Amino acid sequence: MSSPLRFALTDLKEKGELPVDSAAPAELFPDALSEGALVGPVAVKGVIRRIDDIAAFEGKAEGRWRFECVRCLAPVETKWVASVEAQAPIDAGPLDLTDEMRQSISLAQPMKTLCRPDCKGLCTACRKNRNLADCGHVGEGPSSSTRPRLTIRPDKN
Ligand SMILES: [Zn+2]
Ligand SMILES: [Zn+2]
Repeated sequence: MSSPLRFALTDLKEKGELPVDSAAPAELFPDALSEGALVGPVAVKGVIRRIDDIAAFEGKAEGRWRFECVRCLAPVETKWVASVEAQAPIDAGPLDLTDEMRQSISLAQPMKTLCRPDCKGLCTACRKNRNLADCGHVGEGPSSSTRPRLTIRPDKN
């Protein structure tokens, strides 16, 4: 079985460390995210070091993913980076990073995604995206408070 995330450890005993620079298709992690989706390949870079009889990987995975804005449901695509660590006995054969990478991606998943910090969301009356157009409905959303609330009073003196 050849996977871009399985690394043979036969040279590790001699060399002491092996550089890792690989990429895996997003399809290798079908259940890493509870919402949204990975976009494009997942890259992994780092090094496998020999620590006595243990092969220890330390590095980073990175790629892109897409989530829906929690307010207006627009797709938001961003870059992500997650650190990855894995260990296995050298004599156990190839080191497979698939599970550790899946866990790292899962932990890095954002709690809530906004298309922009001041997203106005959908109109509660007509469900139109209020970032794109003003539908005319007066809602309780942030757009109803565009006028400054400060009242300037004339100075008493
Ligand atoms: Zn939004
Ligand atoms: Zn509306």
